[in-house]
Order: sequence, then structure tokens, then C-alpha cells
Amino acid sequence: MKPQGGSTRPQGVAAPDPQRLSLNTATTKERWGLAQAIEGCARHGIRGISPWRDQLQAMGVAQAAAAIRAHGLTVTGLCRGGLFPAATAALRAAAIADNLRAVEEAHAIGAQCLVLVVGGLPEGSRDLAGAREQVREGIAAVLPAARAAGVPLAIEPLHPMYAADRACVNTLAQALDLCEALDPQGVQGPVALGVAVDVYHVWWDPQLEAQIARAGRRVLAHHICDWRVQTRDLLTDRGMMGDGVIDLPRIRGWVRATGYAGFDEVEIFSALDWWTRDPDEVLAVCKERHQRCC
Ligand code: ZN
Repeated sequence: MKPQGGSTRPQGVAAPDPQRLSLNTATTKERWGLAQAIEGCARHGIRGISPWRDQLQAMGVAQAAAAIRAHGLTVTGLCRGGLFPAATAALRAAAIADNLRAVEEAHAIGAQCLVLVVGGLPEGSRDLAGAREQVREGIAAVLPAARAAGVPLAIEPLHPMYAADRACVNTLAQALDLCEALDPQGVQGPVALGVAVDVYHVWWDPQLEAQIARAGRRVLAHHICDWRVQTRDLLTDRGMMGDGVIDLPRIRGWVRATGYAGFDEVEIFSALDWWTRDPDEVLAVCKERHQRCC
């Protein structure tokens, strides 16, 4: 494995702006609640934050909004809505209702988008096409409220290894088909439905460059980490930027080429390594790796 090397930055790709680094709080969730993460970002000069809903609710939405505002942080997303497919109509309606609450929470904290992890197969089902149709129906049901609140929905395609249990939208192409079908206005006007480009999930896709270009203004978020070749856990073994094999500078260049001027959001699930460390150390390493490896 290439240790902490990182890739050479392709010609024409500018160095990352340290003012455009965001912390997805999954990275520090084992040791810090949201209040501590907000303070930590401020202390380290990290200007963006992307909270998870459980931590947001634990802190209190109003308190979190006030603390985020007080430190002048940009909320690069709220994680997460979605999880639409379910075995019964009542459960699907409950999922939609929960997504509507998520839109309200995202609006309350000024989030730039609500990230959607769309959900996998319903309990006991093998009907993948049916699950994908339920995702489409779920997003369609939430979209008007999102549009009215000014909170765009960002579909995050997940690596296909999560198709059964987390997300049956697995490529940017699939996500963009949904965007174009459900939010045709987004081509010209404000984007109500776009995508979160998380390198962990899409780095392997032979169509990645073309699909990022196709996304254009629909790129609403860019999540970064790295892919460890010796992955020890399907969910909680993401690498720090530079510790794996993802060509981060190249992908960031493709993302920037769409006109995306937003943040690079570090999102690292790492039960065996980064979650065990002092979050102050983790944030310092995130900043350094963002500059050197992205
Ligand atoms: Zn992500």
C-alpha cells in the first residue's frame, strides 16, 4: 500500500483552499458530540461542518444553529435523509415523514443540502428494481418541501457493496437519471435535486469523469477520505486522505471543473484507527492531508 503518499496533482488543478475544508462529524462522533465538534472546527480553523441528525437532535437544533452561527461555520450538508424502501405502505409513509422533518432541520441550521442515503432492499425482499422505484417515489414525495425550504436534496450514490442494506442507488449515472427525471428545472434554475460525490463510493467507476461532468451544477457536496486496499470492515474502515489508492487530486479536479466552488468534506468512518484517536489530532491530520494529498 502506498503510505501517506497521495497522488501528484494534475496540471491545472489548483491546490485545495484550506478555507474550503469541512468536517463531517461522523469523523469525530465516537469522542465528540456536536457541540464539541463545532468548537473543534473553530479551534482548528476548519470553516465547514456537516452534522449527523442524531447528534443534531442530541444537542438541540436551535442550540446547534446558534453555535454554528456564532462561529461563522458553513454547514456543507446535513446527514442524512433517505432510507425510503420499506416492506409496507405505512413504513414508507413514515420514512417520508421523517425526511420532511430532516428538511426542516436542514433549513434550521442553514445546511447547503440534505444528503440522501436512499436505502436498500426492504426486509425480506429480493426485488432490487422495486426498491429503486420506491426510492424514486420517496424522493418525489419529499422534493416539493425541499424546494420550498430552499434545501436541495443531494443523492449520495453508495458503493454497490451497500446495495442491500443502505443504498440501492450505486452510481452517479443512476443518481443523475433520478435528478433529471424528478428535477428537470434544475438544468436552468435552482437545483432542488443533485448529488453528493463521495470518493469512497464512486472512485472505482469507469464513468466517473464523464458522470461528474454530466452532473455539472448538480454537484452539491464533495466527500473525501481514502480507500484502504486491505479493507477490514465494509462500513467502518475508511482511510485518511493519502493512506489509500484513490486519486484524490484528479477527482477533485473533475469536481472543480463543473464549477463547484464548495467545500471538500472529510468523512471518515474508522473504528480501528481514527475514531480511537484524540479528535484534536484527527483534525490536525485532516488539515495537513487535505493540503498535501487532495
Ligand atoms: Zn459521504
